[in-house]
Amino acid sequence: MSVERLVKRYGQALVLDHVSLSVAEREVVALIGPSGSGKSTLVRCIHQLVPIEGGAVYVHGELQGFERTDGGLRALGHRAIAAQRQRIGMVFQQFNLFPHMSVLRNVMEGPVQVLGESPEQARAYAEQLLDRVGLLAKKNAYPRQLSGGQQQRVAIARALAMRPQAMLFDEPTSALDPELVGEVLAVVRDLAKQGMTMIIVTHEINFAREVADRIVFMEAGRIVEQGPARETLAAPKTERLRTFLSRGE
Ligand code: ATP
Ligand code: MG
Repeated sequence: MSVERLVKRYGQALVLDHVSLSVAEREVVALIGPSGSGKSTLVRCIHQLVPIEGGAVYVHGELQGFERTDGGLRALGHRAIAAQRQRIGMVFQQFNLFPHMSVLRNVMEGPVQVLGESPEQARAYAEQLLDRVGLLAKKNAYPRQLSGGQQQRVAIARALAMRPQAMLFDEPTSALDPELVGEVLAVVRDLAKQGMTMIIVTHEINFAREVADRIVFMEAGRIVEQGPARETLAAPKTERLRTFLSRGE
């Protein structure tokens, strides 16, 4: 997936300033940067949750949100956009599970309603995914009966149930109590090992170093520095990233 010269404005504010980023298949990119630098906005634009003012987003080489016509670009309709969005899974800081549905139902719902899978097929895959995130024993529980870390793991299973080609994580652990962070990071680490293409917005620098192939550092709507995770974090080339890392922002 990639973005090319992406421009996003909120009113007068230029929040993404011609950002270009290309993520290879099976690559894991950790997106870091100070608060307000545009990290969430970037992943939201990739997932087509907010309209863009310029540039382009591609997934598997396919332009997202628009079709090319003789006269230029034409915006796609809701259904076409929904179909494109489905190919990418997104996990937010807040878990957003359906409160009135069991854990199993939460994971089965998308595949049955959106992908048209049979309930049997969806249940079998949901159980497999819940097992993978260590929560099969909780399949009949309701979200309110789970810890934050458990809810976030269900949210990851629910995203995976849609068989996405790539995953976007926006600070998946920042709403969690410190002792629950590890169990969620373990699931993300497992996904990385299995070759899932991912962009992970995170403040967990140690985790980024361990799991990411590449670090992308944003500030004020631009990518200021990027490079291989270990080298970049050990020896930043820009003063700005050096300060950011030393402050533990
Ligand atoms: P954080 O680390 O705090 O999550 P971030 O890097 O994810 O920060 P964004 O949430 O992408 O930053 O915000 C980038 C800028 O866009 C900020 O100045 C923010 O105030 C602004 N912004 C984000 N969402 C909106 C919105 N819906 N309306 C207006 N301004 C917005
Ligand atoms: Mg954010």
